[in-house]
This record gives sequence, structure tokens and C-alpha cells, in this order.
Amino acid sequence: MEEIRIFSPATIANISCGFDVLGLALDGVGDEMVVRKTSEPGVKITKITGQDLPTDAHLNVAGVAAMALLQAHTYQGGFEMEIHKKIKAGSGIGSSAASAAGAVWAVNRLLGIPFTTLELVAFAMEGERLASGVAHADNVAPALFGGFSLVRSYDPLDIVNISAPPALVATVIHPQIEIKTSDSRKILKTKISLEDGIKQWGNVGGLVAGLYTQDYGLIGRSLVDHIVEPIRSILIPGFDEVKSKSLDAGALGCGISGSGPSIFGLSKGMDTAKAVAISMKEVYQKIGIPYDIHISKINSDGIKILN
Ligand code: ADP
Repeated sequence: MEEIRIFSPATIANISCGFDVLGLALDGVGDEMVVRKTSEPGVKITKITGQDLPTDAHLNVAGVAAMALLQAHTYQGGFEMEIHKKIKAGSGIGSSAASAAGAVWAVNRLLGIPFTTLELVAFAMEGERLASGVAHADNVAPALFGGFSLVRSYDPLDIVNISAPPALVATVIHPQIEIKTSDSRKILKTKISLEDGIKQWGNVGGLVAGLYTQDYGLIGRSLVDHIVEPIRSILIPGFDEVKSKSLDAGALGCGISGSGPSIFGLSKGMDTAKAVAISMKEVYQKIGIPYDIHISKINSDGIKILN
């Protein structure tokens, strides 16, 4: 195989209680990439559509992630990449992660799958380091594995993959305001109280148990963030109203997607997810902020080959 065309999904990181350790992959929303082998060594980005992003491979997360992989392999040739962005950069639904994960997944395929998916996560994290200054795995892991990912440990990297309960549907609204990931990290406190810690790890355990047992009520009760959301939500106009209206419309839970400004709701069933979308839209129509909205099942496969 000399060339591959792939779909790399958007992802929701943190999922309320799991800052930097939980993420899930979306279906239908994601970037497309074409990656081909070249005899000339190195990584080249030949085309980017949909977004204005650097084509210099050292400044693009796809290039940086692919180069991290190539450093660990003996392959003497190189790769060319086209990136067709469907996910807006800085949206909070893993735009940089889709490119970084897609690049390493495609390169690994073209090399005959020498690396495990866990190893690919580590290479893709180098792309995340470029995008946000922190090599977090909670977007790239679900993009690569599909379903939900729990980063049990960063050192050594240990990731637990959890299948999504079948009726779970995500609604994501992206208000078109700019929040830099670096800014939304800067405002966070570096210390938490024991009291908040106890509530938070109770919820992480509850969410994971709810996913395994397909207990939607437990999932809903656990989708609470005592640490990050109270601080970050201040940066997102309309957040409190979107959240209360989404819960009124039947969402199991609602929170900030990644570092924002996107807000996600998780619902049991498509009808509820659509009702949540209507409530979310009403808030931004009233405030007068343009938005994109996505309603998506959870993607159990992660990255896929397109014909
Ligand atoms: P998101 O919030 O959607 O996850 P990030 O904030 O993680 O997005 O990443 C966006 C940052 O990464 C921007 O500064 C963007 O210029 C940079 N970047 C570099 N390469 C890419 C790429 N291929 N796709 C998206 N963002 C990229």
C-alpha cells in the first residue's frame, strides 16, 4: 500500500469529571487525510483545506506526530500528507488531536503496522505538546482507540478503553468565540482541596462504572466537575444557561468539551439528544453568537479508512 485516505474523528476530552484523563470519540464529525509514501525522506504537508494552518511539518501537529513516529523506525523514505479540516482549530473538540492521531495511524498502516495503538498514542501526544504545550492524551487516545478512553497513568502510559453504552448520544455546540487552550489552562488552579478531590474521584469512578454497567442514571449523576468547570465556564458566555436548559431537555449531563468553548451534552437516545440541541441553539440565538452544532453517536471504531 502506497497511499491511504482516512477519517479521523473529533473527540470530547475531560467529560466533566475526568480532566486530562477521560475522552470519547465522535462519529460523523472529523477530518479527512490523505497520506502517501515518498522516496524522499521526511514529512511534507502538501495541502490543507478548510482551515488556515501551517504547512511547515514542524509547525503542524500532523507533521510533528509523524516525525516522532519515524524517529522510532528504520524506514528510509518519507511521507506526504493532505489534511482536509472539517473540525475548526480551537473549537474544543480535538481539532489538533484528529490531525496528530490521523497522521500516526496512517503512517503506521503504510509501514505495515509496526507499532501498537498505545505506542501511536505516545507519538500523537507530541503533536498535542505542540498545540497546547502539554502532551495530553485524552483526545488522541479515543481518536485512535474509539469509544471512551481513560488515561489511568501518564508515566508509564496506561490507557483503559471502555465501550460506549449503545444508546448514548452526544450533542455538541460550538459557539464561535475564541478561547486559546493555553489561556484556559493558565487560569486553572494547580492545587485542589481534599474535599473537592473526594467528590471528583467519586464521580470518575461512578462514570466508569456506569459506562461498564450501562447504567445511564449513574452516568448522569457522575457527570459533575467540581474542579475545572467552575473556573473555566466563566470564559464561555451562556454556559450556565446552556447547561440548565440541556438538563431540563433531558440530558444526562452537560459540561465543557475539552478546554472549550464547545459545550457537550450526553443523552440516552437520539430524540433526547435532538431536544438538547434545540435548547442549546436557543441560548446562542438569544445572545446573538453564531454556532455550529453536532449530534453524534459515540464512535466505537476510532480512525477509519475511506475508499
Ligand atoms: P481543539 O481545542 O479543537 O482541540 P487545539 O486548541 O487543541 O484545538 O489546537 C489548536 C492549535 O493547534 C492551534 O493553535 C493550531 O494552529 C494548532 N495546530 C497545528 N497543526 C494543527 C492541525 N493540523 N490541526 C489543528 N490545529 C493545528
